Amino acid sequence: MSEDTIFSKIARGEAPADIVYQDESVTAFRDISPQAPTHILIIPNKTIPTVNDVSTEDEAMLGHLFVVAAKLARDEGIAEDGYRLIVNCNRDGGQIVFHLHMHLLGGRPMGRMVQRV
Ligand code: AMP
Repeated sequence: MSEDTIFSKIARGEAPADIVYQDESVTAFRDISPQAPTHILIIPNKTIPTVNDVSTEDEAMLGHLFVVAAKLARDEGIAEDGYRLIVNCNRDGGQIVFHLHMHLLGGRPMGRMVQRV
């Protein structure tokens, strides 16, 4: 069931994570395999598997992901130097965990936007 992804469990407090922010609609925690000095995942508390599954009723929460990302970037001290926000979708997007999430990456130059594989 989609409710049982590891991220859903983290949002419900049923699985361990280094949570850096949580409110009634989103949860943010450090990526277990960081790709940059700052690598935080920001997720809806509500289970939405992929970007393909968002609906108009999610618009406020999706906008809130950006507000929280900007706050966390300031908290991490990377706002001025800059950072990258990534949302992967399905196979070609490289999505591994099917609970929509935004990556906040920074603390070093992030290089080219897209790497050829
Ligand atoms: P994506 O490829 O966009 O689905 O990214 C999934 C991300 O989740 C990867 O960067 C993983 O390192 C990260 N990840 C997977 N399991 C956990 C976990 N239990 N706690 C924190 N990060 C995780």
